[in-house]
Amino acid sequence: MIHVYIQPHTHPVKLKGSNLLLCYGYRYALLWRRLSEDLVNTTMPQQPWIQVEISSVCQAGCIDCNRQRTQWPDYDWTDQSTADWRINAGITGVRSHYPVDQWHQHVSQWRELRSVQFCGNVGDPMAHPHISDCVASVIQQHRHCSVDISTNGALGRLEQWDRLAHMGITVTFAVDGLEDTNHIYRRGVEWSRIRQRMTRFIEQGGSAEWCWVDFPWNRHQIDHARELAHSWGFRGFEVRSRYTATDQFDAHIVRVSQQPVSRESHPPTGPNPHHQHQHSDRVRQQWSQGLTVRPQCVPQDDTVAHRHPAHHINADGTVWPCCWMACVPFHHSLHEQWWYAQVIDQVGTTWNSLNHHHIDDIIDSLGWQMITDQSWHTDPQRSHTASSICLQHCGQCVTTSDS
Ligand code: SF4
Ligand code: SF4
Repeated sequence: MIHVYIQPHTHPVKLKGSNLLLCYGYRYALLWRRLSEDLVNTTMPQQPWIQVEISSVCQAGCIDCNRQRTQWPDYDWTDQSTADWRINAGITGVRSHYPVDQWHQHVSQWRELRSVQFCGNVGDPMAHPHISDCVASVIQQHRHCSVDISTNGALGRLEQWDRLAHMGITVTFAVDGLEDTNHIYRRGVEWSRIRQRMTRFIEQGGSAEWCWVDFPWNRHQIDHARELAHSWGFRGFEVRSRYTATDQFDAHIVRVSQQPVSRESHPPTGPNPHHQHQHSDRVRQQWSQGLTVRPQCVPQDDTVAHRHPAHHINADGTVWPCCWMACVPFHHSLHEQWWYAQVIDQVGTTWNSLNHHHIDDIIDSLGWQMITDQSWHTDPQRSHTASSICLQHCGQCVTTSDS
């Protein structure tokens, strides 16, 4: 997947015309758009849908990914002299795969799933050695559920690709360039391995889409890539724009592209009391910009049967209301982690784990309320409990949007 600064999209539980947002995972964008359209085009109550990070393993070193971080306790890539990108040590189970039997049991807890997307914030689903078994679990238990896998395209044994090609699913290849450019952002992703897997999957009858993020270094190749996609048998080719691209960050991506992907982690760092002030300052700053949370994890339409119809599951079995919130335990910014540490203090670390609780109990829990409804207030006396993640991703300026 691709991360921060990349992607505007609309969320499935909002209707057309909703605001455009930053997105941590552009793997989600296609699915979310499709589901948004579905919501507009039907009056039927909606079944829930989930995204799952079935593996937290990835070979790549995209520096906008929460998988990567610099040695600084707070996310600071601007110090060019010292920026040393390594694996984020804060990620729980950073090199783990969801056990297949556990996944089978967990996904059975949803009664009638509408859609499952295998994606992830810090891992690639095709890194899972038994990804096709995980997909089969969904198909067996949710007969009317659509399945989509988003991948950088260069991982997975070929026999897994063969099997997936016959399962009636869609694979979205997140490939942002051709042989000479894709690796600039997607460090460590080998072109020959992508081509081998694209070819194999499509030749076996698999349904493939190509999702391309527009960068200055790949822009001149878009028309050619679109033609290639057509001739190679892709069903779709989509170019995605970045929302907050800057020349400074682009230059940094190009500089870091020369470095090999580190397999090492920095020593883990956690939040400290200093981050409480940082957090409150950040929230007040967002409020001062006129932002209030218009939650996209809550339907804006009463035809939707479920109050929280979309869930994100991490590779450790924890459930979250969205992919953005799913990163909070290991977020680049330690003030976000500080905010979540306050929640953990009250509800414990296993409150949202499917290994300990049923999905229905998780959604009814105090922890869920604390990271959703209870964090969307605008009370200056309680700025420390407001979620700056929600303000950042679902904040809307009321005066602007209403005018
Ligand atoms: S390909 Fe891997 S490193 Fe790159 S954004 Fe996706 S999960 Fe992160
Ligand atoms: S960022 Fe917050 S408000 Fe937005 S979808 Fe996620 S939990 Fe809901």
